[in-house]
Amino acid sequence: MSFGGISLALYYVLAAHAQADYDLLLKGGHVIDGRNKLSAVRDVAIKDGKIAAVAANIAASRAVKTVDAAGLYVTPGLIDIHVHVFPGLVKNSYAAGSWGLQPDGFTLRSGVTTVADAGSSGWRNFEDFKVRIIDTQKTRVLAFLNIVGAGMGPGAIEQNLADMEVKPAADLALRYPGTIVGVKSAHFNGPEWTPYINAEEVGKTAHIPVMVDFGGNVRAGRTLYDLLTKYFRPGDIFTHMYGGHRGEQDPDTKGPSQAMIEGRKRGVIFDVGHGGASFLWSCAVPLMKAGFIPDSISTDLHYSSMNAGMKDMLNVMDKFLALGMSLDDVILRSTWNPAKEIRHEELGHLSVGAPADVTVLRLEKGAFGFTDQTGGRLDGSSKLVSELTIRDGVVVYDLNGLSAIPWEKVPPPAPRKNAKQ
Ligand SMILES: [Zn+2]
Repeated sequence: MSFGGISLALYYVLAAHAQADYDLLLKGGHVIDGRNKLSAVRDVAIKDGKIAAVAANIAASRAVKTVDAAGLYVTPGLIDIHVHVFPGLVKNSYAAGSWGLQPDGFTLRSGVTTVADAGSSGWRNFEDFKVRIIDTQKTRVLAFLNIVGAGMGPGAIEQNLADMEVKPAADLALRYPGTIVGVKSAHFNGPEWTPYINAEEVGKTAHIPVMVDFGGNVRAGRTLYDLLTKYFRPGDIFTHMYGGHRGEQDPDTKGPSQAMIEGRKRGVIFDVGHGGASFLWSCAVPLMKAGFIPDSISTDLHYSSMNAGMKDMLNVMDKFLALGMSLDDVILRSTWNPAKEIRHEELGHLSVGAPADVTVLRLEKGAFGFTDQTGGRLDGSSKLVSELTIRDGVVVYDLNGLSAIPWEKVPPPAPRKNAKQ
């Protein structure tokens, strides 16, 4: 039987969706929503891709599908503002190269629904990045545009001052507002301030923040103090904050340097950006002890960091649990704080009407070890596991089939036409 060309089964599904108040209900989980200062057991209802209700008790009968989230944590979809996700065929390159990762393969399974690529592309190749990756992934992919026109290409490309032009980068950022969320300078090793001055010009023109990886060496004449107190605007982002080799630590106390303290006073944002070579326990432990905590937690996910000390977003979050940060604080710094930093304030929370990007996490208790870039280990007793990831109301990852039904109740698939037996 069919109704206007649709099958009876599909008709009933559509009719149920039309009648129900909600498409999906997450029932009985502990909701952590830093923006709304909520950390309590609540039900979360989703309709048409948006958060429709958050309340103490929403009847399961009002939803097409209900997921039992009892004993689990329900959080906004995680936001990782430092990743490299512009893969391609260029050898030894983050720009269209072998060092970039396809985001959906690594994000959704870690509870991440939004990423910002940290400067893999520049104005010369951003549109290739957009067409092949940004427009094709289930993950919401945003970008910091590299001040280098060629982006993070191989060899000396990132040292080429002549390719750090303001106008074409600013024009492109203005053409893609909301997608280009910032400007990046990275890996520059020269004594000049040109990369930062030009990045700031682009940022001012396009009204977006600048994120800086301050290169491999601290140099006389190009100090972290000057970057954070003279060149940066409030809201600019210093990533790799626990890298430990760019002047982050006071040489005597090993706590935060005067540059970091003054920067924070001015409103500079401090981001983790763990990566393969930018996270040392010998820096993170004393800075955390001194109260110098991150504004945002991010991975610097790329082809090699993910198989070294850094595993994924949850692993970096676990490290802050192991350092004594509360789970509420860890979630805040992985959702609402990064959303604000990239000026996407519609994300990172579970307010009614917000896009239904939701992550359901399990907090395992046991004996776990967490390694930094040197392989040094810090022991911890908690570990987050992603159970369910929802993007715009659609389940995009479901580790244990929480949103699925028992296999015996699944209707048999329609016979395939011309199927060869
Ligand atoms: Zn990076």
